[in-house]
Amino acid sequence: MPTQPKHTAYLRRALLRWYDANKRDLPWRETNDPYCVWVSEIMLQQTRVAAVIEHYKRFLSEFPDVRSLAEAPIDDVLAQWSGLGYYRRARHLKAGAEAVMERHGGVVPSDESELLALPGIGAYTAGAIRSIAFGIPAPILDGNVFRVVARFFEVEGAWTSTKDKKQFWEIAGRLVSQQRPGDFNQAMMEWGAMICTPVSPGCSGCPVRAKCGALASGRVGELPTPRVKEKPIAAERTLYVLSDKAGRLLMRRRPDSGRMAGMLDLLDELPARSSEPESLGSFKHSILNKRYEVTVYSSRTEASTRGRKNWEWIARERIAALPLTTMAKKGIRLAQSISLFQAGDEANEAH
Ligand code: SF4
Repeated sequence: MPTQPKHTAYLRRALLRWYDANKRDLPWRETNDPYCVWVSEIMLQQTRVAAVIEHYKRFLSEFPDVRSLAEAPIDDVLAQWSGLGYYRRARHLKAGAEAVMERHGGVVPSDESELLALPGIGAYTAGAIRSIAFGIPAPILDGNVFRVVARFFEVEGAWTSTKDKKQFWEIAGRLVSQQRPGDFNQAMMEWGAMICTPVSPGCSGCPVRAKCGALASGRVGELPTPRVKEKPIAAERTLYVLSDKAGRLLMRRRPDSGRMAGMLDLLDELPARSSEPESLGSFKHSILNKRYEVTVYSSRTEASTRGRKNWEWIARERIAALPLTTMAKKGIRLAQSISLFQAGDEANEAH
């Protein structure tokens, strides 16, 4: 790869022209506010654009600035995040807002090392905030950018290789437009998401097809080097929708660290002083490469929470406002569908 990749000027020009004419109307593109850019970029990690749009709007109307997020109870933040998954992102975002209040007086910094020192901000997010919100020619690299660079410049490399990623960061750094870095980075993302997709890319409508290396050499399907897919693992779980006479639900709080930290889940055991469980049916749920078949039972219980610090009785009207795991939501919804447990307002339920 030469110092300046061939066709860089062409790529910038063609891509920005295409982006200006075709960019999607997305709510986070209506602002350059660094806090909004930060929230949207964190939400978009590992999550489809369509799933993020409503969550983004709701999150920002609830926490419109760094201060409101920093001061919010973590349960409220997790409840707003509910349905997006990967809840560690929400915890980091809140911790990041607290750090911005403490270290920077509530003003999101533009300095790379100050951004990287904030919880949950890595090289990609720092590059996105700096380029989009502050107009600094900082590169970004994610799976989309990696793929389009690999194909257009016909560069070998696998996303899973640290060494290859380093090389691609260097290329992205040389590509980024000095005049319109934020638009250019978003154009790269959009190009990867809309045209140069992982499977069946739309080469015939591609704005840079005239100089695409992989297209010219017939190697589109080979680049980037495909990652080896892990085989899904089948697993089973049993959950209990346990309610008392007053209609309260017995739930367990997950530990403060690890996956879905601090969220409420249904119990996966039947406590003492519970009636014979009745089967409600089952549903499927995937977490990472695990494919769960979850069987749900209901039971009336008079169980005591004594000695079970992580068990909580939840009044039905509070359920919609609390951070529930998606599995718990699905289980409760199953119970609701056969009128065993009415949780009232379902406005915050996941999809
Ligand atoms: S021509 Fe095809 S492979 Fe090349 S950049 Fe465009 S969409 Fe990707």
